[in-house]
Amino acid sequence: MTDRSLLILPGDGIGPEVMAEVRKVINWFGTARGITFEVSEDLVGGAAYDAHGTPLTDETMEKAQSVDAVLLGAVGGPAYDDLDFSVKPERGLLRLRKEMDLYANLRPAQCFDALADFSSLKREIVSGLDIMILRELTSGVYFGEPRGIHMEGNERVGINTQRYTEGEIARAARSAFELARRRNNKVCSMEKANVMESGILWRDVVNEIHAAEYGDVELSHMYADNGAMQLVRAPKQFDVILTDNLFGDILSDCAAMLTGSLGMLPSASLGAPMENGRPKAMYEPVHGSAPDITGKGLANPIACILSFAMALRYSFDLGDEATLLERAVESVLADGARTADLMGPEGGTPMSTTEMGDAIVAK
Ligand code: ATP
Ligand code: MG
Repeated sequence: MTDRSLLILPGDGIGPEVMAEVRKVINWFGTARGITFEVSEDLVGGAAYDAHGTPLTDETMEKAQSVDAVLLGAVGGPAYDDLDFSVKPERGLLRLRKEMDLYANLRPAQCFDALADFSSLKREIVSGLDIMILRELTSGVYFGEPRGIHMEGNERVGINTQRYTEGEIARAARSAFELARRRNNKVCSMEKANVMESGILWRDVVNEIHAAEYGDVELSHMYADNGAMQLVRAPKQFDVILTDNLFGDILSDCAAMLTGSLGMLPSASLGAPMENGRPKAMYEPVHGSAPDITGKGLANPIACILSFAMALRYSFDLGDEATLLERAVESVLADGARTADLMGPEGGTPMSTTEMGDAIVAK
């Protein structure tokens, strides 16, 4: 079967190191399960700049538009800090997100029992936690006009505008409800309809889409400030959280700390459905290029491997295989497998990047 096309963009820093471990997982699915992927690989970020003088070539952009899923490692690093803004590694990533119109950013916060003591909260609050935050990514206060700093009388005024159209809210809401149907049929939408017009519209549109198309999904609403409090007080009450760009930025970082290391966190960015009904999609670990540990074999490949598990589930309709992979990760952690970032103060000898990848494949 060649209908599962995947573009791999390892990028910079530890990106290629963690991606090599995903390659092993992909190969395992081919040999052990007969599930094959049409994999192509290309450059992005500083690596693309070094080769082509641009962080993303038009050819790579076109390829990204044509495949079922893009899997990205990380971009950036100190070698590129002094480059002109227009060719910075991060611009490659932003161009991908923008041109693919990836408006729904999914960040799971999942706490594996073996790591529950790593959380910033008590074990019983986070053990078994499995929630998903859907952050609207292409609109809101980060993009709304007018914006800028100007003089008013004799003082400066800084202005940003929170702006959402009905259509932007509706498509994010649909993504959240679709997601809920694949999980536990529960969505909590967060805004501040008590003080913001865009929040009032957000709540109205979410209710309308729900009533018209997703009556089977349980829907609740919460003000985002209360949501932040509940996320820390009792996070297991949630399943899918739907929220806007700014609140999503804050709430997803908050949720990340419930689970422990940055080296564990995957993400997906989804756009509109393609002809085959699946969304345009890019998957990437939440962490960056980690220049401080690059080339030392210290990187934890789990965030990138779990990003591939999300691709299995959301782009390839291979939910059972995604679960299998997540179980393998959970199980090696339960056996005590630890990369350096997962070691407690008691110390010990950490596993290398490749040893962790091998352990997951073996499991
Ligand atoms: P960016 O600006 O690209 O988001 P950043 O400056 O936020 O990058 P990261 O590159 O994500 O930072 O790294 C933050 C810290 O976490 C670093 O100390 C890094 O070594 C560590 N880290 C990040 N990813 C991993 C990983 N996969 N395994 C182990 N440690 C990691
Ligand atoms: Mg960062």
